[in-house]
Amino acid sequence: MKSQILGKKIMLEDAGVILIEKHLYLINIVMRVVGSMIRIIKKIRNIIIGTWNNVFHRNNEIAEKRLKICYACDKCFTLSKNIKICTLCGCVLESKARVDNEKCELNLWVNI
Ligand code: SF4
Repeated sequence: MKSQILGKKIMLEDAGVILIEKHLYLINIVMRVVGSMIRIIKKIRNIIIGTWNNVFHRNNEIAEKRLKICYACDKCFTLSKNIKICTLCGCVLESKARVDNEKCELNLWVNI
């Protein structure tokens, strides 16, 4: 009798552990999805800001310094005369360089 009760208790504890592990797994997945969505939203926001700044020639000073580094970088790909793309992030450099909180994937802009 005592061993039966002990066996049921162990089974309940195992079920509890499995349930907690399942919840942690789901929480982990949800956190990853939310993190990805936040990164995508930030990227879209920066694309809009960068394009706006590029069209209206804003942040020229910082853009010139950043673009000088980018144009010398082997990750810079020339799409057309006025459009160059970073092959690491896929961004249009003339726009990306004009966004204050943008970062170089290789951290080459750190001293600017
Ligand atoms: S953002 Fe960085 S990695 Fe990309 S082209 Fe410019 S310097 Fe190179």
